[in-house]
Amino acid sequence: MRAVRLVQIGKPLQDANVAIPEIGPSDVLIRVAAAGICHSDAHYRAGVSKIDNLPLTLGHEVAGTVEKIGNAVTNVAPGDRVCVHYLVHCGSCEFCVRGLEQFCPKGQMIGKHRDGGYAKFIKVPARNAIVLPDEIPFEIGAIMMCSSATALHALNKARLKPGESVAIFGFGGLGFSALQLARAVGCGHIYVVEINPTKLASIETLGAVAIDAKSGDPVEQIKEATAGEGVDVSLELVGSGITMRQAVQCLGVLGRAALVGLTAESMSIFPYADLINKEVEIIGVSDHLATELSTLIELARSGKLRFPPETLRVVDLAAGQINAALDALQHSIDHVRTVIVPKT
Ligand SMILES: [Zn+2]
Ligand SMILES: [Zn+2]
Repeated sequence: MRAVRLVQIGKPLQDANVAIPEIGPSDVLIRVAAAGICHSDAHYRAGVSKIDNLPLTLGHEVAGTVEKIGNAVTNVAPGDRVCVHYLVHCGSCEFCVRGLEQFCPKGQMIGKHRDGGYAKFIKVPARNAIVLPDEIPFEIGAIMMCSSATALHALNKARLKPGESVAIFGFGGLGFSALQLARAVGCGHIYVVEINPTKLASIETLGAVAIDAKSGDPVEQIKEATAGEGVDVSLELVGSGITMRQAVQCLGVLGRAALVGLTAESMSIFPYADLINKEVEIIGVSDHLATELSTLIELARSGKLRFPPETLRVVDLAAGQINAALDALQHSIDHVRTVIVPKT
């Protein structure tokens, strides 16, 4: 079968012809209908995040149709439309039993520790295949499983309540989902901090307040817009020490900052003024939970989480097109996500 693989760190992905995976009794084989191209994939290719075993088929945002099931599988059947929960976990350790599978010591990320969805077929354990309702296109089912799921987890970790105000730093795939999910919770005003002019314009059309970080300190702008009070919840989705500090400093009394963006930089705050005095909380957010995916799928099915056609770009399962999309991700892209839809 066709697959697009990372063969050497720092080099373009390559077209390859590999065997269709053999499935075990509790696995399913999925014919890939859509696979999202994510910032993490650009990090894997560049060597920013370590990949131990090469060559590897990338792709952790996957949706498709069940082709074959192992004889112990009961949750899905051949022909079912499914999307994939990207963390393969043991199911029996202390964390898995508590439903916190992102901390499973044996956890394997699809498309990082095992072959992913930049291929005609993918093999996953049956519990990672989640039925995708007919109303949700495959492309959206695929990309929801990463950025939207993580955005929902961040809002859950930040305990966003109806009526509370939110500041979102960064308007890529995560921010685009976070804005809609915050609204689905029934939040109050939403402020989105960006520097890309196209994105700033689209933020306004989605009914949020666009804060242009190039036109002045975003903390000052948020304070001014909230009569000096600051916001209840902030989400840092950029991955920079500066925006992390801003996400803490824009909070009001009892505010919660959920930090999601990945960075090796340190952040500095003034403990008394920024944290202690206001009893602010800084919360780390890592991935998401399988138990959150049903909520997410229901929000997409009911139209509360949407990805209009202009937010997506489609490419074929071909190394040239995928490498170009990964190159573009290293700069700021205007659209939300590029999705691989394999031509037959
Ligand atoms: Zn992703
Ligand atoms: Zn486990």
